[in-house]
Amino acid sequence: MLEYSASPELLKDKVILVTGAGDGIGKEAACQFAAHGATVILLGRTVKKLEAVYDAIVAAGGPEPAIVPLDAKGATEQNYLDLADTIEGQFGRLDGLLHNAAVLGALSPFEQLGADMFAEVMQVNVTAQFLMTKALLPVLKKAEHGSIVFTSSGVGRKGRAYWGAYAISKFATEGMMETLADELDGTSVRANCINPGATRTGMRATAFPAEDPQTLRTAADLMPTYLYLMGDDSLAVNGQSLDAQPKR
Ligand code: NDP
Repeated sequence: MLEYSASPELLKDKVILVTGAGDGIGKEAACQFAAHGATVILLGRTVKKLEAVYDAIVAAGGPEPAIVPLDAKGATEQNYLDLADTIEGQFGRLDGLLHNAAVLGALSPFEQLGADMFAEVMQVNVTAQFLMTKALLPVLKKAEHGSIVFTSSGVGRKGRAYWGAYAISKFATEGMMETLADELDGTSVRANCINPGATRTGMRATAFPAEDPQTLRTAADLMPTYLYLMGDDSLAVNGQSLDAQPKR
């Protein structure tokens, strides 16, 4: 794990949007960002889960979050432009954007990958991130320092048999981050990736049904890397893909 201890006020007065904030790693990141002072915009497709995260943050004494119900599968470019307008109107800027929401799709031999499944995985894991990033860049540029964090995977750096559309989408995510980061170099906004590594969540259990979840790190264990990249201690870091669990 990253040897990093975030100051309690690391994210004070920052406004940070987290996609897929209702479950798994996104839920933990949203709670941790709020615990370090951020006003968090909780975006996801299952409102009940977002409301539960909202309640947990408020109960813990964090700044009141905002909830944005949005399904990345069907969202249009206009939806993201409207989101940017709402954020600008409400907060005037966006300091952080964590692209965390993703779907696994089907793990199967290449010849059996369905075209519809492939399109859905690419829509949720790649196109939605592109449209959202494009729409939100103007509000990110209004922040003193803007941090965009994409979520990669081990199979986004080295292809693996049967990981199909998911692996391809994570390579695309790494490529999007590198392309954007190079363009942003020297500006007030930066972009990086985190590869969480094997983590005890619903997605991991779906991918590895026979695995004992107790052998895995929890989302909470990964948070030093997430806090580091979201806060100003990493201002000089741009275009990097960090492992949240370097030894796994
Ligand atoms: P989970 O499946 O636990 O959580 C994913 C979140 O994304 C859920 O809140 C889910 O919403 C949301 N989401 C999925 N599809 C959509 C959509 N169409 N629109 C909006 N929100 C959506 O996954 P993890 O927490 O495990 O994964 C988080 C990230 O980490 C992903 O990018 C994943 O690829 C990556 N990762 C995870 C690893 C692991 O071992 N867990 C390893 C490597 C990478 P809902 O709650 O409604 O289902």
